[in-house]
Amino acid sequence: MERQFNQEIDLLKLRAGEVFRGEGILAVTKALLQSGVSYVGGYQGAPVSHLLDVMVQARDYMDELGVHVEACTNEASAAAMLGASINYPARGAVTWKSIVGTNVASDALSYLSTAGVTGGALIVVGEDYGEGASVALERTLAIALKSSMWMLDPRPELPTIVRMVEQAFELSEASSTPVMMELRIRACHVHGSFVASDNRTPAVSTKKQLKAPAAFFYDRLAHPPATFKHEKIKAEVRLPAARRFIAEAKLNEVFPGTEQNIGLIVPGGLYNTLIRSLTTLGLADAFGHSRIPILALNVVYPLVPEEIAGFCAGKDAVLVLEEGQPEFIEQDIGTLLRRADLQTRVSGKDLLPSAGDYSSEVMVRGLEKFLGRYAPKLDRSAAAKWLQDIDAVRAKAAELLGTLPARPPGFCTGCPERPVFAAIRLAERDIGRPHISTDIGCHSFATFEPFSMGNSILGYGMSLAAAAGVAPMMEQRTLAIMGDGGFWHNGLLSGVASNLLNRGDGVLVIMKNGYASATGTQELISSPPEAARQIALGASSVHADRTIENALQGMGVRWIRNVVSYHVAEMTQTLREAFTTGERGLKVIVAEGECQLERQRRLKPAVASLLGSGARVVRTRFGVDEDVCSGDHSCIRLSGCPSLTVKDSSDPLKTDPVAHVNNDCVGCGLCGEVAHAAALCPSFYRAEIVQNPNWWDRLLFAVRRTVIGWLQPA
Ligand code: SF4
Ligand code: SF4
Repeated sequence: MERQFNQEIDLLKLRAGEVFRGEGILAVTKALLQSGVSYVGGYQGAPVSHLLDVMVQARDYMDELGVHVEACTNEASAAAMLGASINYPARGAVTWKSIVGTNVASDALSYLSTAGVTGGALIVVGEDYGEGASVALERTLAIALKSSMWMLDPRPELPTIVRMVEQAFELSEASSTPVMMELRIRACHVHGSFVASDNRTPAVSTKKQLKAPAAFFYDRLAHPPATFKHEKIKAEVRLPAARRFIAEAKLNEVFPGTEQNIGLIVPGGLYNTLIRSLTTLGLADAFGHSRIPILALNVVYPLVPEEIAGFCAGKDAVLVLEEGQPEFIEQDIGTLLRRADLQTRVSGKDLLPSAGDYSSEVMVRGLEKFLGRYAPKLDRSAAAKWLQDIDAVRAKAAELLGTLPARPPGFCTGCPERPVFAAIRLAERDIGRPHISTDIGCHSFATFEPFSMGNSILGYGMSLAAAAGVAPMMEQRTLAIMGDGGFWHNGLLSGVASNLLNRGDGVLVIMKNGYASATGTQELISSPPEAARQIALGASSVHADRTIENALQGMGVRWIRNVVSYHVAEMTQTLREAFTTGERGLKVIVAEGECQLERQRRLKPAVASLLGSGARVVRTRFGVDEDVCSGDHSCIRLSGCPSLTVKDSSDPLKTDPVAHVNNDCVGCGLCGEVAHAAALCPSFYRAEIVQNPNWWDRLLFAVRRTVIGWLQPA
């Protein structure tokens, strides 16, 4: 990973009384150290990647503190790490993106929550739900509920986030239960400050090692017959203990207001949006003082019956603002109020949508209806006017933008995965269009235009497994596409091992770009070693250690080809061979080409330093000769590079726009390869831009200019 977190690492070292200024997710990282965490693990994924990335880069400082940091190969191994807290007084934290990561980790989480913990165990999940989500839209709360793990959802404000992290460990230890903390995208990226405390020396650490293993105690094992006891303990001991702690530590917050007959109950993570919505309605000021009382649930599970009853007593109605469905919190509140024989009406999903992000607009619409029903005397004209304005802007935008084409996300300029899809497109001319089982990772950009490839996405590293049911029923071989990140995360076992066990057939393309690129170019077991990356500064790709190929060979895959992804003609031919050979069994094509983003991060400072020292630097660029370009744009349909665009022709006889390569081109060579492999028009040219030219470059330039001058008519 080329991104450096030096400033962030300095923030982790702040002492008591110093002020931390930064992002929410880094505040969590600092709070872990202030809590005396012994070990941290996880698997990267937005919006929580930075937690682990920073800790991995701060390894020297972590060693100083005695904190063990583990970059896990998937979420299941991260969850299993928390097993250390079952027997030992070691506080541990793990992190991943949810819901997908939590699904992968679920098995270990079930067993962990059954056995219970001695040291505090905290699971920080990036709750990727709502408008910016990149995964299946489900909420982690369902997992917490079914496994009886407590769920925190802190108010997005740094002092509250930090307090909740610290209290999460206390809650975990007080109730012998792992605690989950969901952090929405907005909470992770909220900026603010808090007064730091000193980092705490862990009770058990790499510096204070355990002298002996824990005594054998069957009840620590999540295994029958202990599991029967665990189920009872969860309900009869751990749950009451957790509720007691939550109430005594005042983890949930009540914000009083003057409109006593109504109230709002909101998960802490949505509090800021609620205040913004109330401000729009003229019912709160910018400092968060609301006229309507608010109960902010920093703990969404378990709810404390006395707190809910205490807040609702004497009110005509409360509105529960809870995203998604089923409305677990609302249903829980309804049950608690019935048991307390309180007649307060509970509104929620009757006024708010069942699906989607609760943005300010969604909340304002719901609040407007709630107030109309239960507080009609309050002036709602500001809301009505604001909503009308939004509708008008939206209508105008639709009118103006209606004719514009959609602008889907795509591969970075020069991405090594783009040529592979160009090659698949070319191979399809001979073999026909195959069933394509695709996966999670950068290569999923090929599901968008201009490639529009893929028939299913079933999870990270699952593409080959997802083709297992289709392949035997399909005359033509199926194609599964997987990244090297997905291969190590799950693909090797779920896909390759299963295919071999069942004597499967089919074609698997593994994009070996060297990193888990889509999540921030974190390292993999097959990442190129640092020395190779430095040597390859001028080369078009870095050949990583052949770990993937070795693993495949070791498992018994016989048909393996390694092709540089930019070699479109060779890739096309290899695909044809894989689809047509009479040889049965899995056929794997490893597409080798370093992530261009990572390469450019390394290349740019190196080139700048060479230029600064006056050294000669040659850059490759591609261009389109507009006199030759016929304007059919087949090159664009086979490439999709954002640098390859169109412009008006300067020839008045050409009415169609011509292809054009803009200044972002990194000279990956795909344009030339595609033009050659697809036998396109010869309009592409390759140019070398020489900076800090030497005497020979200057002489050559002068000669060329002179000769061209002679040949050009006066
Ligand atoms: S991050 Fe790397 S692998 Fe992903 S699209 Fe960009 S260049 Fe390609
Ligand atoms: S050579 Fe072509 S595909 Fe590669 S970066 Fe330049 S314009 Fe894009």
